[in-house]
Amino acid sequence: MKILVINAGSSSMKYQLIDMTDESVLAKGNCERIGVDGHFKHTTGDGRVYETDVTMNNHTEAFVQIKNALISDEYGVIKSLDEVSAIGHRIVQGGALFSESTLVTEEVISGIESLIPLAPLHNSAHVQGIRACIEVFGEAVPQVVVFDTAFHSTMPPKAFIYPVPYEYYEKYSVRRYGFHGTSHRYVSARCAELMGKDIKDLKIITCHLGNGSSITAIKGGKVIDTSMGLTPLDGIMMGTRTGSLDPSVVTFIAEKEKLSPTEMDTLLNKKSGFLGVSGVSSDDRDVTAAAESGNERAKLAIDILEYDILKYIGSYTAVLGGVDAIVFTAGIGENQQSHRSNVCHSLEYMGVKISDKLNDEMIRGKEGKISTDESSVDVFVIPTNEELVIARDTMALVTKK
Ligand code: ADP
Repeated sequence: MKILVINAGSSSMKYQLIDMTDESVLAKGNCERIGVDGHFKHTTGDGRVYETDVTMNNHTEAFVQIKNALISDEYGVIKSLDEVSAIGHRIVQGGALFSESTLVTEEVISGIESLIPLAPLHNSAHVQGIRACIEVFGEAVPQVVVFDTAFHSTMPPKAFIYPVPYEYYEKYSVRRYGFHGTSHRYVSARCAELMGKDIKDLKIITCHLGNGSSITAIKGGKVIDTSMGLTPLDGIMMGTRTGSLDPSVVTFIAEKEKLSPTEMDTLLNKKSGFLGVSGVSSDDRDVTAAAESGNERAKLAIDILEYDILKYIGSYTAVLGGVDAIVFTAGIGENQQSHRSNVCHSLEYMGVKISDKLNDEMIRGKEGKISTDESSVDVFVIPTNEELVIARDTMALVTKK
């Protein structure tokens, strides 16, 4: 069975075609700048690359590019679209409506649409992606939606209710939802596998550190708390997002600079974090290089990031009542051994011991344990694979009778 995984953004559409017999990626790619000037890149599992500037006015036109590449003589990986058995979509916001992956129906699409106020850019793009899929593939190909928020739906109210007047939870569903759930779910399950233990018996803290970052506390396979909130702005400092702040900072700057809520939203989401503090870049590699060459603000940005990670691990160890394993994943978690090293050495008070040699080796897609046998907490680097989880969920739902 071959499954197409789609991650539709407002101006982009990423895809992977996965052969479920061995879970290999047959092809992957990205349609960028949809509705602007348009760029398309398609790479096959055996290394053939097709890249072109092409105007795509909407998601349906992007889908036509994907379809043509998949079946092309030169860059194709399948003979006809009939070989695509099902399509799985990543959906950012499932709200309180969706606590697990589900088959797409008109009712499900309406549900995702009803959550657009909570994730305006993302959920509207996802709906466009689903509709474009129906136009290009027809109704006969089943589609499944997999939600970033779903894994976090087990959080207790004390973790998800904000202490603002309760009426805003009732009126507007304002609460913590959490994101990156598919990634936290994948790496926590993989962590239990690597430990050879049942996840039901484990307390795990998963650190997804990328452009967007979130940390999650998982007890017995269920999320009990996570750092992102109503939106992906909360939690630890990120590439361009602030993470948690005293809310008065927002009103103070808005008043001083005479900024509207929309302008403030841009400042907090796009101009802050690594970029805002360092003034260098939102990218960890650039900021680390600048810090190494003596840039004090770049060094400060890195200190804040590592301090934030440390604080979350500390507080989540408290709420879990101890921790058996800590997992690092995503671009920074998988590749920046210096942050892992600084964070883990600061955790020595609670018995964490990592091997600097193993830590240095665990980069660029390698998976494994970086803690020593003496460590009282296992520490892992586990490359995330959200697309595979989406493909697995899709297969499970379309083959369920
Ligand atoms: P996104 O949240 O967009 O999926 P990623 O998980 O790809 O982001 O993470 C992007 C971050 O990871 C960037 O800050 C980047 O510097 C860092 N990163 C990615 N690859 C590497 C690498 N090979 N070495 C060091 N850092 C990396």
